[in-house]
Amino acid sequence: MTSTQQPAAIADRPRAGTGDAAWRVLRGEVPEGTRVRAGNVELGGRAFVVIAGPCAVEGHQQMLDTADAVARTGAPMLRGGAYKPRTSPYAFQGMGEVGLHLLAEQGRRLGVPVVSEIMDASQLPLMETCVDVLQVGTRNMHNYALLRALGRSKRPVLLKRGFSATIQEWLQAAEYILDGGNPQVILCERGIRTFEPDTRNTLDLSAVALVKERSHLPVVVDPSHATGRRSLVLPMALAAAAVGADGLLLDVHPRPDQAQCDGAQALLPDDLAELMTKLEPVLHAVGRTLWQGPKRAHAAGTR
Ligand code: PEP
Ligand code: MN
Repeated sequence: MTSTQQPAAIADRPRAGTGDAAWRVLRGEVPEGTRVRAGNVELGGRAFVVIAGPCAVEGHQQMLDTADAVARTGAPMLRGGAYKPRTSPYAFQGMGEVGLHLLAEQGRRLGVPVVSEIMDASQLPLMETCVDVLQVGTRNMHNYALLRALGRSKRPVLLKRGFSATIQEWLQAAEYILDGGNPQVILCERGIRTFEPDTRNTLDLSAVALVKERSHLPVVVDPSHATGRRSLVLPMALAAAAVGADGLLLDVHPRPDQAQCDGAQALLPDDLAELMTKLEPVLHAVGRTLWQGPKRAHAAGTR
């Protein structure tokens, strides 16, 4: 197909200045797959990486309890939103800079890398000092000024799929970051908007398999925001592992009934422990292993 006759697939379009099909995001550019380093953890290799923590940082005690609970399960990375892009302007908007420091404090204490959402390029200098991975939320996947700024960052970026974005648009958003000079991008499938009201979104697992074919970038799945329901997180997490995802992004809260944000989809610490146990045989069946965080390795006497 020539690009002059009909809308071209991403593979058919030339990268600016090269004159041939050479999108940086495509599998052929790095056939063995890109590995993204976040602190002492690597995504995109054989080991499957679980990132867990509260949707929103709410205070010191909540972060302490959650971080301890997450570390006890062996999950090697901590999440927590400090800048929250809420649909309602009257909903909790996050703790901002104070929240970032609370998250960073727990990361340092446990020796685990931390992930948090960036909403605006002006937050970049602060975020780069506090977090190991910069998350772009679903609402900002089309924010090209932000993507360009992240292309100039030295930090890895976790790029969520826009809730109405096609696979091609998602890969094009990643291309902005890669083209800006930052090769460390992790894609995150978090569900898309469909006609179905009984789940918060529809988790598009075929997109995960297709993006793994098309791109060399690691892909993680967020079954929490995809389903909006605690009971569905475990089955969809196992399905994500089976389909070839490189990791998970999970909401966990020690007291979900008191959560300021998204309590209905938050796993309890015991649910996360159960999930970590159930992941192992699924990963084994598809030739993968589960990345073990420092605390669990320590407890097992291996480090
Ligand atoms: C989040 O992970 O905290 C979040 C807001 O998710 P999303 O952008 O996918 O809605
Ligand atoms: Mn949320």
